[in-house]
Amino acid sequence: MKLIFLGPPGAGKGTQAAGVSAHLRVPHISTGDMFRSAIRNATPVGLEAKKYLDAGELVPDSVVIDMVRERLSMADCQDGYLLDGFPRTVDQAVALDEISAPDAVVDIQVLDERLMDRLTGRRICEKCSGTFHISKLADEHICPVCGGAVYQRDDDQPETISVRLRAYHEQTEPLIGYYSGQDQKSRPGENRLKIVNGDLKPEDVFRAILATLE
Ligand code: ADP
Ligand code: ZN
Repeated sequence: MKLIFLGPPGAGKGTQAAGVSAHLRVPHISTGDMFRSAIRNATPVGLEAKKYLDAGELVPDSVVIDMVRERLSMADCQDGYLLDGFPRTVDQAVALDEISAPDAVVDIQVLDERLMDRLTGRRICEKCSGTFHISKLADEHICPVCGGAVYQRDDDQPETISVRLRAYHEQTEPLIGYYSGQDQKSRPGENRLKIVNGDLKPEDVFRAILATLE
């Protein structure tokens, strides 16, 4: 199964992708995580990508596409993958269809007015990588699952979030037309799009995703 999770920042793609990839036994590939790790390790890609992540803007297509092409050529991706955060532009989607076309695209929908609160309140555990909303933490610095320290992502600040939401609407939302077969560049007559309501409890979103993939 080759799968894509689409949706705005804060829709819950990362949380759901972790659960669904374990369930389907396919690798979870998050381009955002790959960039953050490249930045930490100061690789050439990391040095190039840093200014875009800091600003909340998209990294240029050529950089992202090369990185994903290399990742998808690895042995663990030959029977399937779950991509989270890629593609984010129509040109990335066209490139992916040439590299290894996805079977289904799950669009997790959440309204903008819910996203700002979700993202400004998002905290991540540095030990287990769990994601939590600050309103659910008994101690705002401690992970309720493993006791590790939680931190806030650098780009989860209101000004950067606004830039990311704008980038989503302008550059990524057109993928809904692309995957439902309504874009000029779409593969003729092909609808791979599955829509899921992301404004539910995480376990209900998980169930809805599995149901739509049946
Ligand atoms: P979110 O979905 O919460 O915005 P991600 O972790 O998926 O966060 O991405 C963080 C940042 O990484 C983006 O704002 C962008 O700068 C960069 N990025 C990730 N994936 C892509 C992509 N496919 N194309 C361009 N930039 C990307
Ligand atoms: Zn933890």
